[in-house]
Amino acid sequence: MAQTYPFEHIRASPHELELFKKVLPNVSKEMPEYFRTMEVANKSIAQKNMFGNPLGIRQDLGFENAVKVLLIACFNDGILTQGDTALQAIDIFRALTLKWYAFGNKLDSCLYFGYFAYSCHPNALSLFSDHLKQSEFLAGGAKSRLNHPDIAQLLAPTYSNAWFKTTTGLGDKLHPLLISDGDVTKTGLPRPGYLVHFRSSRQFDLRAPTFIEMDLVETPVIRDAKVIVTCPQCSQKCRGNLFKQIEMTCPTCKTTWKQFTS
Ligand SMILES: [Zn+2]
Repeated sequence: MAQTYPFEHIRASPHELELFKKVLPNVSKEMPEYFRTMEVANKSIAQKNMFGNPLGIRQDLGFENAVKVLLIACFNDGILTQGDTALQAIDIFRALTLKWYAFGNKLDSCLYFGYFAYSCHPNALSLFSDHLKQSEFLAGGAKSRLNHPDIAQLLAPTYSNAWFKTTTGLGDKLHPLLISDGDVTKTGLPRPGYLVHFRSSRQFDLRAPTFIEMDLVETPVIRDAKVIVTCPQCSQKCRGNLFKQIEMTCPTCKTTWKQFTS
């Protein structure tokens, strides 16, 4: 049975592709090769699954090289700067991968990215920190261009810093993201938070971060058939009637959001 992935229907406009090429010239030159190697690598893991053999032939050598070249392009285009962490670099790659997919490129490539960045997160972290150390001198103290209006628009956030915990998983208050408990692991190291790995469902959602800090996750407080939750915009505590799904409007900043309470 063919699976559909939660990000599968996202499409960008042709105008955005032109913009991408204009504001990220080095990155856009490397994206086709990066996508090609991920497609090959994905075939190799798919084969491994089909035969149920964990020692199947891995053909992801080209991928590692493509990551290295793309990292350098990210420094040259100013979306990575000296001192950026492996986690930040993975998140930029995630955003680039999702955007490039939205221009009509292969889903298979994204599935390999999901496998690599979420399911094999510790390996991805060590690969990125090795390559970052070798490449960051290229930035030469240059200022990040991530806040440049064109780049900020192209790589607009697909998740927020306001998450809620329910009995079955985690949700984003401001974006349509729901991740079940089987797809995350609560961890204390290196920082308290949830590692998002999608190991249970294999339903990689490239809109989701690979790590969610513990203090960004709120468990709704329930008292006397009322629920108390924090506004994702201004942190005001908001009280409402208790339902499984609630729609709140913050009395202070008027932000409206939907979330589950259990
Ligand atoms: Zn508010």
